This record gives sequence, C-alpha cells and structure tokens, in this order.
Amino acid sequence: MVTKTKKNAPKKRKTATTNRKQTKITKAKAPADRSNFSNFEPYKLKKGEKYLNESQEKHLKKILTDWRMTLMEEVDKTVNYLQDEAGNFPDPADRAAQEEEFSIELRTRDRERKLIRKIDDTLERLEQGDYGYCDSCGIEIGLRRLEARPTAEKCVDCKSLDEIRERQLGN
Ligand SMILES: [Zn+2]
Repeated sequence: MVTKTKKNAPKKRKTATTNRKQTKITKAKAPADRSNFSNFEPYKLKKGEKYLNESQEKHLKKILTDWRMTLMEEVDKTVNYLQDEAGNFPDPADRAAQEEEFSIELRTRDRERKLIRKIDDTLERLEQGDYGYCDSCGIEIGLRRLEARPTAEKCVDCKSLDEIRERQLGN
C-alpha cells in the first residue's frame, strides 16, 4: 500500500499581507449562469395520452414560468452585486480584473434578458395554442424535447438542418 502524503508541502502562511486577499475571497459571489434550465420533474405520460393535452401544457407552462423566475432572480442579483462591488478596489490591477469580471457578468445577463423575452413569447404562443409544432415542417416537436428546450420552435431534424446550413454559410 502506497499512500503518499505531502509532509513537506508548504503550510498556509498567515501574514498580514494575506489579509487583503482574504477579504477579496469572501466578497459576494457572482450569480451563476442560468442559460439552461433543468430543475423540473419529467412529465409522467399516461397510456394513450394526447400530445399537448391540458395537463402537458400546464406542465410545460410551469417549466417556462419557473425558468423565467430563476432568470429574473439572477438578473436582480447581478444588479445588486455590481452595485455592491463597484469601486471596492483602489488598486489599479484589482480594478482591471474587476472590470473584466463585470463585463463578463453583463454579457451573461444580457443573454438572460433575451432569454426572458423569448420565454415571454413562448408563453404567449402557448396561450394562443400556437405551440409545440415545428415552424418549418409542422410535425410535433415532442414532449421530451419541449421539456429540455421549452422555447424550441422547430423539431430536432429541422433544427439540425438549420445548424448544418449555418455552419456551411459560416465557412
Ligand atoms: Zn421540422
């Protein structure tokens, strides 16, 4: 049995200079990215159930509204976070790092705001019964795909074709 223990590893030094760094570590944590929502119970299909019946619609609506709420909370958290953190660092190097961090944050939140708008559009379509069928070919998008991607407007095949075309145009 070989168990290697690093006995000679340098121990954490506790000096006055580390104090400043430590206050940095304990600062408020940046909110997490919520561009994917997976916090739901998969729908239990009953035998012979009709696609997008009332209870399936209710289920998908709940996924969409829960996701929307999570995103809204993240956006709020970011606003608070940026306000709390702004101007905390007199050191120019710290400030540069902070600005970098802020711009990443802001880009993430921007994506989330767009996502919220997309969720709103989707909820609107769900209300109007214009939901769950492929925009290109008209077939059922499918409950499981909608659970994973509730804002999906196309079936897997059409979406894949689009992506292939986009890639070809990109090259
Ligand atoms: Zn399709």
